[in-house]
Amino acid sequence: MRFLPWAVCLLSLLAGPALAAGGLEVWPAQAEQGQPLLVKACPGQPAPGAEISLEGRRAPLAPAPGGCLVGAVGVDLDEPTGPALLEIRQGERVLLSRRLTIKARGYGTRQITVDGKFMELKPEDLARHQEETAKQKAVYASRLPSMLWSGPWQTPLDSAVVGVFGRRSLVNGQPRSPHGGVDLRGGVGTPVKAPAVGRVALVLDTYFSGLLVLIDHGLGVVSGYRHLSRAMVEQGRVVQPGQVIGLVGASGRVTGPHLHFDVRLAGARVDPLAWILASRQLDRWAR
Ligand SMILES: [Zn+2]
Repeated sequence: MRFLPWAVCLLSLLAGPALAAGGLEVWPAQAEQGQPLLVKACPGQPAPGAEISLEGRRAPLAPAPGGCLVGAVGVDLDEPTGPALLEIRQGERVLLSRRLTIKARGYGTRQITVDGKFMELKPEDLARHQEETAKQKAVYASRLPSMLWSGPWQTPLDSAVVGVFGRRSLVNGQPRSPHGGVDLRGGVGTPVKAPAVGRVALVLDTYFSGLLVLIDHGLGVVSGYRHLSRAMVEQGRVVQPGQVIGLVGASGRVTGPHLHFDVRLAGARVDPLAWILASRQLDRWAR
C-alpha cells in the first residue's frame, strides 16, 4: 500500500503539463491519418488571433463559452506517422501544447487496369490540370478567422457510399494519390445540398473533377462537390444548410454519375463523413 502514492504521482506525471494547466482538450484521443482533430483551448487569458498548429499546419480558432476557443485541424492522409506537436499559438507565443502520436490508418488498396492512352496527359490537358489545381489550392489556403457555420453538419446527399475515403489505387501497377473524398450514389440531376453555412469560393469546370463547387466555411474548413452536371450557386454567395448548390452528374474523368464529396481542414484531406460526426462534438463545445 505504501507504493500507492508513488503510483498516483507517476500517473499525474504521465498526464503531462498540458492537462495540469487544465486548458486544452483534444478530440478524439487518437490522431490518425485522414481524420479530423478538434481542440477546445482555455488559455485563461484573452488571446485574440490565437491559432491551432499541428506540425506547422495552422488554423484560426473561434470563441466559445467561458473564455475558451474551439477549432479543428486535419491529419492529412499522407501525414508522417510518429510524434507530433499540437500547439495553441498567439503569433509566435505558445499558449498551450500537447504531444501526440500520429498513427497510420489503412484505408485499403485496389488495382485497376486501364488502356495505356489514359495514363499520360496531352501537354495542353496537363497545363489545364495544373492551372485548375492552383485555383483549388488557393481556396484550400484560405483561413477565414470566423466560424461561418453553427450546429452539426448535414450530409450533402443522403445515399449509399459507393467509393470509400482514403483508398489507394494502383493503376497499371503505378501508385496514384489516395481517394481524397467519399463517393455517394446519385443519378444525374439529384440535388446536392450545402451541409452547413459557407461562402462559395470556387465554381469551375475541370479536367479530372468535372464541374466542381468549393465552399469555404471559415476556420480553414473547405468542402468540395465534384462531377456535377450543374452548379446552382455563384462564386462569392453565402449558402445556407440544405440549400441546393448543384446537381449530381458524371462530368470529368468518371465511369458513371455520383457525387464526390470532400472536406479539407487547414488544407489536410480528411474523411468527410468523420468530419460530419466531429462537427457534433465541435457544436457541443461551441454552445
Ligand atoms: Zn471520388
